[in-house]
Amino acid sequence: MPTGSKIRGPASRNPRLAAELSLRPDLYRCLAMRVLVVEDDPMIGEAVVAGLAADGYAVDWVRDASSAELSMGTHSYSLVLLDIGLPARDGIEVLKTMRARKEDVPVLIITARDTVADRIAGLDAGADDYLVKPFDLDELSARARALLRRAAGRAEPLIQRGALTLNPATHEVRLHGGSIEVSAREFALLLALAERPGSVVSRSQLEEKVYGWNEAVGSNAIEVHVHNLRRKLGESIIRNVRGLGYTLE
Ligand code: CA
Repeated sequence: MPTGSKIRGPASRNPRLAAELSLRPDLYRCLAMRVLVVEDDPMIGEAVVAGLAADGYAVDWVRDASSAELSMGTHSYSLVLLDIGLPARDGIEVLKTMRARKEDVPVLIITARDTVADRIAGLDAGADDYLVKPFDLDELSARARALLRRAAGRAEPLIQRGALTLNPATHEVRLHGGSIEVSAREFALLLALAERPGSVVSRSQLEEKVYGWNEAVGSNAIEVHVHNLRRKLGESIIRNVRGLGYTLE
């Protein structure tokens, strides 16, 4: 079973991010992607949520099938971590219902059921990956990144847009090969734009990517981040499409 001491997010690999997170605990909720964790075990749930939050994801945690379905009905997730052994209805039922409704969000099963038959049943019910407890949180992080980049239509781990390179594993930004310091929120915003090349992303879509639930978001918060990114990366890097939102040049 994972314990607190096993939680190692990118903060441990990125001293700048670690410093930023220690100074600004609210940045733990600063997010590029929203993940739903469906897990009834409190210790595993807490460890997984803390690990994913330290990786910069927005994390919602529910403990049973009905709450999972309610959350998925009202919010849009980039990834679902699904335990199989849940009270009342089990995770496989949740998964089958999701796929029957054509919900295509990537699903990573996290379970203590480790027989070959269990794994096959999970994958054939529509799961994208399968991790047997106890697992290492670093492996969970890496699998989450792999599922998210596949879901975004990418195979390569780095995101390259023109002269700009983003590394979702380390939150590093490079422009023409040179490293550029950005805050966690600025990274989340850049990532949201880079994941949808050629598309205009609205301010409310960006707010959803960059801020978690229950966070007070100033009316000009996104504009402030865009301003700071232009200062660091050049005026032309992010284009404002009046009345619609932003796009990466
Ligand atoms: Ca369970």
